[in-house]
Amino acid sequence: MNPEEENKSFFEKVVKRRNILKNYDKKLEERINEKRLGEKHKGLLAEFIKYESSGQVGFSHFYIPPIIEKGMGDIVIDVEGKEYIDLTSGFAASTIGQCNKEVIEEIIKQSKDLIHFFDFPTVPRIKLAAKLIEVIPGDFEKKVQFSVTGSDAVENAIHAARWYTGCSYILAAIGAYHGVQMGSVGITSKGGIASYYYPVPPNNNGIILFPYAYCYRCPFGKNYPNCDIYCVTFIENTLLKGKESPLVDQKAGVSNIAGLIIEPMQCSSGYIMPPDDYLRGLKRLADQYNFLFIADEIQTGVGRTGKLWAVEHYGVEPEIMVIGKGIGGGLPISAIVTKKEILNNWAPTAHISTFAGYTLGCSVALKIFEFIESKDILKNSNNIGEYFYNGLLELQDRHEIIGDVTGGKGLFLALELVKDRKSKEPASEEAFYVRNKALEYGLIFAVSGYYYNRITLIPAITIRKESVDNALKILDRLFNEIKK
Ligand code: PMP
Repeated sequence: MNPEEENKSFFEKVVKRRNILKNYDKKLEERINEKRLGEKHKGLLAEFIKYESSGQVGFSHFYIPPIIEKGMGDIVIDVEGKEYIDLTSGFAASTIGQCNKEVIEEIIKQSKDLIHFFDFPTVPRIKLAAKLIEVIPGDFEKKVQFSVTGSDAVENAIHAARWYTGCSYILAAIGAYHGVQMGSVGITSKGGIASYYYPVPPNNNGIILFPYAYCYRCPFGKNYPNCDIYCVTFIENTLLKGKESPLVDQKAGVSNIAGLIIEPMQCSSGYIMPPDDYLRGLKRLADQYNFLFIADEIQTGVGRTGKLWAVEHYGVEPEIMVIGKGIGGGLPISAIVTKKEILNNWAPTAHISTFAGYTLGCSVALKIFEFIESKDILKNSNNIGEYFYNGLLELQDRHEIIGDVTGGKGLFLALELVKDRKSKEPASEEAFYVRNKALEYGLIFAVSGYYYNRITLIPAITIRKESVDNALKILDRLFNEIKK
């Protein structure tokens, strides 16, 4: 193809892609007309499509998303009055369950005093910072920087790492989800999303992606534990050692790496749990090659994995921890907690955000930590997590389609569906079928994964045994239907 033809073909593709997106609203309308839906549900969905951008997440997760009106712990109820066992907990935003009584009381109490007062010091904010310093791993002095969303916090982590080290490069994993604002989209793999907005700032200024430890489908074709964690060695050999590296010149003592950001267990890519030595291996690289280790615990934090923070499983102390989602019990609040000297480098006004240190969010976050500690909620995450995991393993014994089960650490659970256990060909159509059909049977969960074939189970860490039993029964029924 000559350059002119190549250009033409490229633009044709761009136009085609845009046209697909242009007609997307129409397609969504067709979808809601094609199914028999309750009147209220249908009417509200039609308004949703009419008034909101079709780029919202609901329709990308479900063929027809339910419209949830109420929540109680591990149960949610839609506008037609239908009940569902909720295995999403708002993608871990409602980690201790919907509408927790103590959270509601705290919201009412704090709202009567003060809802928010710009980015100024307030009592709940000061108390929460002290609490975070106490509960975040790290035997060193720390500092906190508050923000609102997960993406905000990730961007603050990048700002802080670059400012502190004076270096520009960020290492991040393929398959990671760290947010989709301009400053975080470059390190988020989801659906090649960055390409829509290219050029995006972090990509331009140095992002290097490396393969994650996804052992069921090892990117290097190896088997754990015989691999000796080759995925860590690979980063070291290709990116960090020697002179022919885009990042360092070891002999000259040059390094351009600010930090490595990692989800201790990968979440949005389908709840993938790396082997135990992985995080320790990455931390060794950070220490040896002198860059910061940044853990994004926005989704794994607050007890999801049976410990308050996932890094605690591996004895790793990050220089920067990024937290969000579950700490606010459904209210938007996030933060980074860093080694003291990192944030001490910032002068006043280096960082301003109207809603940073959101007063109501801080008082609720304090309540959530108190609730988890006083009610021994981590014990539930572990006990019921083990029970759920065993139930999933039993399902795997009965259903060939379940190629792999992730679990064993709290309520971090997933099923990988395959057409054939030997070839591991992803069973993505089946996963979509199961997910959409599950809604009919009163169960909500997401499907995700590198190959759209991982059923991700994100229950509240307060989930009851009764709900786990019912969820397992529904899954069993769905897998039996697929066989037919
Ligand atoms: N990091 C992780 C690990 C996440 O799971 C998410 C959200 N799914 C984010 C960052 C971004 O958070 P937010 O959507 O609140 O910006």
